[in-house]
Amino acid sequence: MISYRLVVVGLFASLWLAALSTSTLAQKPNGRPAAVSTIPSPKAVLGFAPADDRTVADWSQITGYFNQLDKASDRVVVQSLGQSTLKRPMIVAIISARENILALDKYKDIQQQLADPRKVSNTLVRDRLIATGKTVVAVSCSIHSTEIVASQMSMQLAYDLATAQDADTKEILQNTILLLIPSPNPDGVDIVANWYRKSLGTPYEGREPPELYHHYAGHDDNRDWFMLNLRETQLITRLLWHDWFPEIVYDVHQQGSNGSRFFIPPFFDPPNPNIDPLLLRQVGLIGHKVAADLQSAGFKGVLTNALYDTWWHGGFRTAPYFHNSIGILSEAASARLMTPATVNSDQLARSSTRGMRNASEVTTNFPDPWPGGSWHPRNIMAMELVAARGILSLAAKYRTEYLSNFYQLGRKNIESPIQLNQPIAYLIPAGRSRDEAVAKLVGSLIDQGIEVFRLDNELHVSFGPQVLQRTNAVSEKLGTYRTIIANTASMQEVPAGSYIVFLSQPQRTNVAALFEPQIYPNRLIGTGEAERPYDVAGWTLPLQLGVDAPAVVSVRETAAERKLTLLKNENEVRSDLALTPRKSDASPIKNPIPQMVRVGIYKGSIGNMDEGWTRYVFDTFNVPYESIKDTDVKGGNLKSKYDVVLLPSQRSREIIDGNAAGTLPAEYTGGIGEGGVANLKEFVNNGGTLICFDAACELPIKQFSLPLTNVIEGLRSSDFYCPGSIVSLDLDNRNPITSTLPVNLPAYFINSSAFSTTDANVRVVARYAKDNVLRSGWLLGEDKLRGQIALAEVRLGKGRVVLFAFRPQHRGQTWGTLPLLWNSIATSAK
Ligand SMILES: [Zn+2]
Repeated sequence: MISYRLVVVGLFASLWLAALSTSTLAQKPNGRPAAVSTIPSPKAVLGFAPADDRTVADWSQITGYFNQLDKASDRVVVQSLGQSTLKRPMIVAIISARENILALDKYKDIQQQLADPRKVSNTLVRDRLIATGKTVVAVSCSIHSTEIVASQMSMQLAYDLATAQDADTKEILQNTILLLIPSPNPDGVDIVANWYRKSLGTPYEGREPPELYHHYAGHDDNRDWFMLNLRETQLITRLLWHDWFPEIVYDVHQQGSNGSRFFIPPFFDPPNPNIDPLLLRQVGLIGHKVAADLQSAGFKGVLTNALYDTWWHGGFRTAPYFHNSIGILSEAASARLMTPATVNSDQLARSSTRGMRNASEVTTNFPDPWPGGSWHPRNIMAMELVAARGILSLAAKYRTEYLSNFYQLGRKNIESPIQLNQPIAYLIPAGRSRDEAVAKLVGSLIDQGIEVFRLDNELHVSFGPQVLQRTNAVSEKLGTYRTIIANTASMQEVPAGSYIVFLSQPQRTNVAALFEPQIYPNRLIGTGEAERPYDVAGWTLPLQLGVDAPAVVSVRETAAERKLTLLKNENEVRSDLALTPRKSDASPIKNPIPQMVRVGIYKGSIGNMDEGWTRYVFDTFNVPYESIKDTDVKGGNLKSKYDVVLLPSQRSREIIDGNAAGTLPAEYTGGIGEGGVANLKEFVNNGGTLICFDAACELPIKQFSLPLTNVIEGLRSSDFYCPGSIVSLDLDNRNPITSTLPVNLPAYFINSSAFSTTDANVRVVARYAKDNVLRSGWLLGEDKLRGQIALAEVRLGKGRVVLFAFRPQHRGQTWGTLPLLWNSIATSAK
């Protein structure tokens, strides 16, 4: 039965791919309009209506439906974007009026000109582009795969637009071009659909699958929009910011079950200071329009101005702001996957978040609470359809305003006046940083549409590192910071072969937000505790990558005197640096570990994103490893198979206990147990190296009684708080783990650890800096971190434990600290 199904699915997928290549990659023939009655409904194709209780369409069904729509409707063209991480086809359905579909290249060209005002020669041309262009709207569904309903909704939305004949739909079709992405994570749609079908009718129906729903990233698949580590973010970034430049991007999510029924912007504070106020106002306008449409249609429980903020840069709906586009998020309350949930008034009254005291109290931003009851997938779909229609309707009615604002923002970024002693560019001087990290940084910038130049001749510039300076400390705990250019020197010669990124380009704000240090505002709640940001507080990319990229404040040579080459892709940089070129999806990076070391990476049955990212960096650097399951650890005899066992960041109790009995089928419950702990200790005693990241350090410290204390464990956030920021480490350069690294290194701290010891047998490899610890982000209570241990080695029996108090591989972004990991492994050879 199973093999039969696989054959059918495989056959279907290949037929579908064949159909794609013939019918849609080319423009549709100029045929007669398709009769609406021949357009199949999702129900006719699937055998159930999208979002019916306890049904789910998997990826081959979703792509199959879109393929039929492509064939049957002259309003829909489906295009292939490439393949996902696990080789599923990624698609976009382009939906518009027939005459627009026949002229997609023309409209794409208009967008590309509006996105870069330097291509628009005069105001007459500008006015013509704005008069003839269409508002391009991208809608992306279910990037988080357990938030599954939108992927099902996408078929209904496409069908409605393909068939409706009312005036509002016609106006939408005439004035907008919709890029509908049924899911930017197709692998996850199938992981969730397969798991859901298997669990139907069992006690585990409606529970989330016990694995990451993206091969590497899980939920963090939406934390990658400036680093572009994942195949999926690379492909969609190309669609959005090399091809189409949408004016509006709508990212459709779900939140927990017990709070508001639907969140829509305006967002909560703080906004990122690099986001243009015009974008925030346009976000607010669209959000309120959607909220009003939902109210008018009789939906309750719509929340605005709460929880979700625009500070951080890495999400699908925040990346657009740095491309002069409007990013909209919606978060519908979840059912239990595709099984209805029941929510009672007590649960609603207990549900609170930033900006919402509880989900039953009437407030201006939450004027009509939902009273509770059963909550079905179709309730979610209905709200998402109203939201999508509301956005498209505004996009159609105010077409010229959207196009004009989009153009003006790009122009403002180019023409922004130069300010004295403020950065005009960032420089990557030749020969100062690791070649692979430079190639990665420049490649990521180019991939997201940022212009990077190579210096073909030397250039004379005045420049210096842009750093945080602690000023006028309110108290020892609460520092205030400003950014300064340290050591601004007189004109210096920068060698040819260096790279330069000017701020004067359409993506000025993106450049600034990626290169400058972030200063998160000190936001405290009434108790004096920290108000938690939505995601991380700091991400400065060169600091994470360990790439030297000082700010430039002036250049001696005039624009005409400069000899610069605009880079087209990462391979040009790889060629400059004599690195192996990228030829396929396979990573060309040379394994940094010179000898064979047998590495096992612990992978428990609780999906752990830090474990996924650990595999990601090993795969990217072509370092061999095996995944070790709970049963392997319980089986013991680990030293016969591995030289190194690595525990990615995870709480000790989660590793030991795993999923609780009864919550999932027995094969997914229980962790390594006390027996597994004993086996890990035996592994070290027999000469193995146990490497622990961040929270996982708790396991050997407490279970093996190592002489270390986590000095920030249990501190209230009024005393210490550091939510995803870049901090400074001082390295002991006598230790081989620090080989080839400088004495001072930025590292990623995300609610991480800091150790102290009184035992002389603990070898301290790195400490948090003695002063000026914060490099980017938010650090409250710096005194708690100063000089404490960030990386240590402890000998035990014939082996050793290496304890990283922070995460050296956070989200695959922190290439600057990866050498500490590779050196830890290299020094573990037999
Ligand atoms: Zn989500």
